[in-house]
Amino acid sequence: MNSHSSFERPDHEVTIVGGGFGGLCMALQLMRAGRPDFILLEQAQEVGGTWRDNQYPGCACDVPSHLYSFSFEPEWDWSRMYANHAEIQAYLVRCSHKQGLREKIWFGCALAEARFDEAQDLWQVRTSDGRAFSTRVLVSAMGPLSRPAIPQLPGLESFAGKVFHSARWDHSFEPRGQRVAVIGTGASAIQFVPRLQASAEQLLLFQRTPAWVLPKPDRPFTPAELDRLRRIPGWRRLFRWMIYWRQEFTGLGFLAAPSLMARAQSLATRFLKKHIKDPALRARLLPDYTMGCKRILLSNDYYPALAQPNVQVHAMDALQGVTARGLLIEGREVPVDAIVFGTGFRTTDLLTPLRLIGRGGVDLNEVWARDGLGAHNGVCVAGFPNLFLLLGPNTGLGHNSAVFMIETQARYVLKALDRLRARGASAVEVRPQAQQAFAQEMDRRTRGTVWKSGCRSWYLDARGRNVTLWPGFTFSYWWRLLRLKTTEFRWSRLGQPQR
Ligand code: NAP
Repeated sequence: MNSHSSFERPDHEVTIVGGGFGGLCMALQLMRAGRPDFILLEQAQEVGGTWRDNQYPGCACDVPSHLYSFSFEPEWDWSRMYANHAEIQAYLVRCSHKQGLREKIWFGCALAEARFDEAQDLWQVRTSDGRAFSTRVLVSAMGPLSRPAIPQLPGLESFAGKVFHSARWDHSFEPRGQRVAVIGTGASAIQFVPRLQASAEQLLLFQRTPAWVLPKPDRPFTPAELDRLRRIPGWRRLFRWMIYWRQEFTGLGFLAAPSLMARAQSLATRFLKKHIKDPALRARLLPDYTMGCKRILLSNDYYPALAQPNVQVHAMDALQGVTARGLLIEGREVPVDAIVFGTGFRTTDLLTPLRLIGRGGVDLNEVWARDGLGAHNGVCVAGFPNLFLLLGPNTGLGHNSAVFMIETQARYVLKALDRLRARGASAVEVRPQAQQAFAQEMDRRTRGTVWKSGCRSWYLDARGRNVTLWPGFTFSYWWRLLRLKTTEFRWSRLGQPQR
């Protein structure tokens, strides 16, 4: 615990929570900036975050890997356009070995509670393994996709077979010859359903809302391409930028040019028709909302798998409950051996179950439960000084690489740290007016976009507000965070009035 003599110096200048893309980016940027006084708390025994946790068969990224990686730790030898989870995880582990980072990571240690100590302008932190220390700055890099959501199906607890979520895949489960039920048809399910279909005796897929699915332009790199990427750093950079701008161009359809979305929608419809010949199944798989309202999925093998005779696609409404031996579907008991949930994550209770207590003993989860998720620029929350969120509210993307957003945010945090030092300040806190203006801007910019076109999606909260997505191009986010507008913040120094 911090002793009284360390009144001015916390145990650690910066504490990062989470060792996925966000936490590793922040840590590497701190090292590069010559600020080694930090620790990183990682609740698991390895880094990687979502890429460590998601090991389901077929798990891969739907953003090209040369872009879905750190610009400052480029990798030339991705085996294919869209790397699988094992390759991405290996990349992140390699990154964690750079610059002596590993020694700064406390593995098996989760943040339990952090309380802002107003008398000292620092955070008092308690961890899950009973440690306590102080830190000037807290950076939360707990990704939004870390807490699996499992629907409460009546009778689920009585089921005698295997039950698991895609992000907690049970590798002891051998689907060969088994009858498997899959709940959910989102980004994860469309990747593992073809794998299950290939070996299961029977696959029952329960769909609440069909997704728009486009072909995935995936392929392995040829040896000549890999050689060129290895030998010519300039080509590597150019290749990355070409991917970036191509992805950014697709953002036009979401934001500014609905005709582009209409074109993509007719491509997806033709893709569906090509693979699904049964008109009833085709009708069931055809979405009735505008493309882009929910995440657009990329897959070459999902529709072909659903067309196989061992697959049945049911509407979720048909599933009435679970028995010890199977499922109750429209009044009939259908035996199954396993139930796999591809039902996504609890994205709107971002920080649960940990407690972040800001000024005046206010709990951030309570603030967000009352007012809805919100953070200035997705990074800073009024009432919570010296706290920075990576991939916080309104910084998710539907069209480009989340790693780009993370890097932009990590640079912004570094700017705040530089300003703190330059001003001799002990705390920085966003002004409530700035945060409110940002929230209003998010509402205004989301109005009229495809995300508000009427579908149910986890992009919107219970009040129908977009609290997850950045409703703009990623370069506009980069531009916004390029400078830290000091007037949007209160800078305080212990013992002196706030400025
Ligand atoms: P998801 O895309 O949110 O899909 C969840 C699926 O489960 C949806 O079909 C949803 O139906 C259904 N569902 C949710 N709650 C349900 C309930 N109570 N009853 C019945 N069905 C329910 O989740 P995910 O597939 O795990 O993916 C989550 C996110 O991870 C993605 O959006 C993406 O950002 C990321 N991801 C990325 C990649 C990648 O390649 N980069 C791969 C996988 C995942 P509704 O549509 O009706 O809600």
